[in-house]
Amino acid sequence: MDWPTLRDTVAACQACGLCQSRKQAVFGAGHVQARWMLVGEAPGEQEDRQGEPFVGRAGQLLDRMLAAVGLTRSEAPPEQQVYIANVLKCRPPANRNPLPQEVAQCEPFLLRQMALVQPDLILAMGRFAVQSLLKTSEPIGKLRGRVHEVQGIPVVVTYHPAYLLRNPADKALVWDDLCRARELQVSRAAARSGTHSGPM
Ligand code: URA
Repeated sequence: MDWPTLRDTVAACQACGLCQSRKQAVFGAGHVQARWMLVGEAPGEQEDRQGEPFVGRAGQLLDRMLAAVGLTRSEAPPEQQVYIANVLKCRPPANRNPLPQEVAQCEPFLLRQMALVQPDLILAMGRFAVQSLLKTSEPIGKLRGRVHEVQGIPVVVTYHPAYLLRNPADKALVWDDLCRARELQVSRAAARSGTHSGPM
């Protein structure tokens, strides 16, 4: 599926019960050639209403985190603008956790977005993004600190911004993850352009 077909398919999707309670599906946003792709959990109330991922309080924190590493979701060249998507495209009622069958039904859309963007890295934010991308039930605390891979794309694992709103002391851990992701992206870009940054 190309971008327009994928977007239309998501908008019309009725593969699970969430289509009955959603106002609209939240497809994703950002640069389709972004070097960073961010993956969250599912739309919340604001996202369901506005049709954009991460526009509520967690989204505002996410914007500040991105700015700290020189990135933005607003229009910018693909080296600076991220692409943001969620595991689920539709809001679970009352923001309950995604159900395994909802994740399974929605997964092909996310995988196709990843294949179309072909980012240098994916930042998986929160338990549902991490566990569904990496097919594991290990907690984030055990998965952080090393680089994983999905469909040949490196995956850096971190906490969800909504978790950070409840646990601000863990912001330092997320800062470490962002720095790890930035180093990885810089070295991937250097490898692509044939420039080596370290000793030969
Ligand atoms: N939380 C998410 O995981 N995604 C959103 O789009 C908003 C909040």
